Amino acid sequence: MDAYVIGNVAIDETLAVSAMPTPGASILGTAQSRDLGGKGANQAIVMARCGLRTHLVAGVGEDLRGDLVRQRLSAEPVIRHLVPIAGRSTDFSIILTTLDGENAIVTTTDCAQDLDVAQCVAALEDAQPGDLAVLQGNLTNAVTRGVLEAARSRRMVTAFNPSPLRPFFDDLWSLVDIGFLNEGETAALTDATGEQAARKLLAMGVKAVVLTFGRDGALLATDDRLIRIPAVGCPVVDTTGAGDTFMATALASAALRGTALDHAAIEHASKASAITVSRQGTQSAFPTVEELAAILDR
Ligand code: ATP
Repeated sequence: MDAYVIGNVAIDETLAVSAMPTPGASILGTAQSRDLGGKGANQAIVMARCGLRTHLVAGVGEDLRGDLVRQRLSAEPVIRHLVPIAGRSTDFSIILTTLDGENAIVTTTDCAQDLDVAQCVAALEDAQPGDLAVLQGNLTNAVTRGVLEAARSRRMVTAFNPSPLRPFFDDLWSLVDIGFLNEGETAALTDATGEQAARKLLAMGVKAVVLTFGRDGALLATDDRLIRIPAVGCPVVDTTGAGDTFMATALASAALRGTALDHAAIEHASKASAITVSRQGTQSAFPTVEELAAILDR
């Protein structure tokens, strides 16, 4: 089985500043890191590091950041379907951080927004029934819907993470087999929490709902069972990327064992995301191939 992650890729540039700039100010900063980012790339990298054949479908500009994306991805076991987006800059984030831990982030999504349905669907040409189609919230409404429909027509299993939150998600749930939501997304999209929220999503057509509650663990709900799994206790350094690690590991764990999402998949996801939160950064904090092999017992 293969996984196709259709999403975004970006370059995250982090600058340390002594204080956040006020309007009109020019301030000095220190370059801290330049990392591959974007939720699509994050999830694809973790799934691929788990050992699942994983394709990443994403738009990139024809610029230096695009070259950097290609170079960084070539170090990962991901199969790349990078779509050149003419006249656009590769998506990037400028992250300003202060010593007292405050941060401010500006993100561009020009390439993610310009990707069209035909480009994404072309990358699914070889997809087989049962393969995973994994989406997040960075693409347009039309593309998100179009790709979910194309995946359904190929009898793929669709997984959706409604992040970042956008106004059009309410209409998509009937096309989603597996939904992963954190607490903020759950509250915004269902007006409920926990089991009640999961029941609402199941009633909208989702077949398996996974709700994550940060250090309070996660819940897996289907029509006939509800499983709660605690988070793994660990020193917490930086929780960025915890949700992406969790979703990717859970999906890969089940796919590699040829089962539907189960208790073991959520346990594996909890262990993998505990590694991510115990380290600084996003992709640099993700568990390695070796760590994931140990977690998945492969
Ligand atoms: P992020 O936006 O930070 O990437 P998220 O908000 O999408 O994450 P969370 O619900 O915060 O997702 O976390 C996902 C999973 O990561 C949790 O279910 C848990 O297993 C693990 N996790 C998150 N925070 C902690 C923590 N402080 N200690 C241990 N595990 C954690």
